[in-house]
Amino acid sequence: MTRLLNALLTTDPRLRRSLITTGFACLFMAFCVLAMQLVVVAGLTQPQPVHWWSIASVGYVLLSFMLIRSGLTRHWRDPAFTTVQIGCALVSNAVAYAIAGEARGIEPPVLAVVMMFGVFGLTAAQMKKLLALGLVAFAIAGAVVQWGRPDDAPPPALAALYMLMVALVLVFSTMLALRMEALRTQLKTQRRELALAVEQVRALATRDELTGLPNRRYLAEAMRLRCLNAQRTGHPLLLAQLDLDWFKVINDTYGHAAGDTALQAFAQTVTAQVRGPDILARWGGEEFILLMSETGVAEGDLVLERVRSAVANTPVVLPEGGRIDLTVSMGATQWRPGETAEALLQRADAALYEAKRQGRNRVVWA
Ligand code: GH3
Ligand code: MG
Ligand code: MG
Repeated sequence: MTRLLNALLTTDPRLRRSLITTGFACLFMAFCVLAMQLVVVAGLTQPQPVHWWSIASVGYVLLSFMLIRSGLTRHWRDPAFTTVQIGCALVSNAVAYAIAGEARGIEPPVLAVVMMFGVFGLTAAQMKKLLALGLVAFAIAGAVVQWGRPDDAPPPALAALYMLMVALVLVFSTMLALRMEALRTQLKTQRRELALAVEQVRALATRDELTGLPNRRYLAEAMRLRCLNAQRTGHPLLLAQLDLDWFKVINDTYGHAAGDTALQAFAQTVTAQVRGPDILARWGGEEFILLMSETGVAEGDLVLERVRSAVANTPVVLPEGGRIDLTVSMGATQWRPGETAEALLQRADAALYEAKRQGRNRVVWA
């Protein structure tokens, strides 16, 4: 059963949606044709026009189905060309009204179902065009019946009532479709806002609030990926742990708020010295990590020395006046093949400890 449905409706979700809707249209048209044939059997109208109408209507929906199924319309904005299909159904319905003889009263309600097919995807402008087409088609059909074949025409009062019902059904189904369109637009806006909010939450989850740098969570994943990448490409990978010197003293001397300002200024100073693909992240407190891909020790040492000197030569200017001189100590190391990010970090940490021990404001390589 599934295989049969897949063969008939394809597995391409967009095409499948179009084919299912068109399948419904085919089924509905089949029942309408059956009803018209019953009208003939009951002797309520002449058979010849109804037979031609049946062939044309069934032929049209089957052709539409095959056209969509062939994939030719797959890249169209609407692969099911819904507007055209509904337009044809409206005209077919109007023709049925003209040829249904005494049974023409069965036609107006059919319009409601035809218009319903537009509710799912058509725009307000498209629906209004279809409304106009339906009104014109039925006006012509009504005129043809009243003045073209007077022997078979309903009394004028009944004909007027039919036309009134046609107008009512067409106008109200269009109004409902417009309501649906408004809801759809609202839903789309909400979905866009939700996607934006998720994006913001994601950015917040990977950023350090104080400095705006990537946070520990982001860095942990980046380290893991860059280690894998280094393993795959064989390119060198460097990691440096940066720790501000005497930061507790700075906090105690200038206050915690000034300490925060110093952390922000430090992040800016270092960011200006590192290169695009390098990752500078806040590891926690006054500790930072710099990850440098495809960088050898000699080149990396130049970068770190540049960072150290920039920090030492860029005093932090406090908003309320006063300035803080900062220095930073760094433990640096090169990734070794097969090594995990944890092992890399541990080695950098030991080197940092050594930098502190040697007197701070320096770079020590593991
Ligand atoms: P060392 O040179 O050995 O690194 O000394 P230190 O004082 O920098 O190191 P220690 O680990 O003793 O102190 C770190 C201080 O950093 C203590 C803590 O209050 C401060 N700190 C951590 N996070 C923040 C923060 O977000 N804002 C501020 N203002 N201070 C922070
Ligand atoms: Mg520290
Ligand atoms: Mg420190």
